[in-house]
Amino acid sequence: MRILVSNDDGVHSPGLHTLARVAQRFGDVRVVAPDVEQSAMSHAITVRRPLHYTQTRIEGIEAYRVDGTPADCVALGAHHWDKVDLVLTGINLGLNIGHNIWHSGTVAAAKQASFLGIPAVAFSAPVDEAGAEPDFSALEPYVAEVIETFLATPRMPLLNANFPLEPKGLRWTRMSVRHYEGLVIPGEDPMGRRHYWFAERPRERVEPDTDRWAIEQGYGSLTPLRLDLTDGDRLAQVLDERPDPEA
Ligand code: MN
Repeated sequence: MRILVSNDDGVHSPGLHTLARVAQRFGDVRVVAPDVEQSAMSHAITVRRPLHYTQTRIEGIEAYRVDGTPADCVALGAHHWDKVDLVLTGINLGLNIGHNIWHSGTVAAAKQASFLGIPAVAFSAPVDEAGAEPDFSALEPYVAEVIETFLATPRMPLLNANFPLEPKGLRWTRMSVRHYEGLVIPGEDPMGRRHYWFAERPRERVEPDTDRWAIEQGYGSLTPLRLDLTDGDRLAQVLDERPDPEA
């Protein structure tokens, strides 16, 4: 089995190294990842300039660092390696639950695989606030268990996996949708220039059975995702009530 591993934290991220190491138990692994951090790039792609890559090695694994986005990396990796069977992304340094799924480059890299018809799993975990080098070795058995579960569920094209640092187990969940206040916090740099930080504050409580709920309960969260954003309920409703939008 050919497994392409990518992320949005960059090719030197310890989360990527943990994931690539576990992936080796399941097949041939190749890493194609951004040369610098590309967090919160979502599904951006590079269209106004060409992409370049440089070969390197990560933990003895064939790897390539790319001057592009996470989605670029998966597209380029799948182009250069025939018949990739599985794409794994992460382990992101930071959870990708709820609305963060929309912003995440790690999830977008997995989505890019899904667009190419390749099954994919995105992995994320919290990091210590202290800024120390994260150690995800305790998560390795859970990463392996998620890969096994995913491979045993062949009709699932795209999965978003999140872990607390010490999971009690794994739970199937849905995406938490909370609205948030987008806070723009003004400040001043050392040269006296105005600058702005974007921050957020949730407006609702955590709903049961969601990804956020599972993490708060100490479980790893597994959410099947889809590329079709259509709101099927609303579509059925308008087709019923107002089949011609112009009428
Ligand atoms: Mn990231």
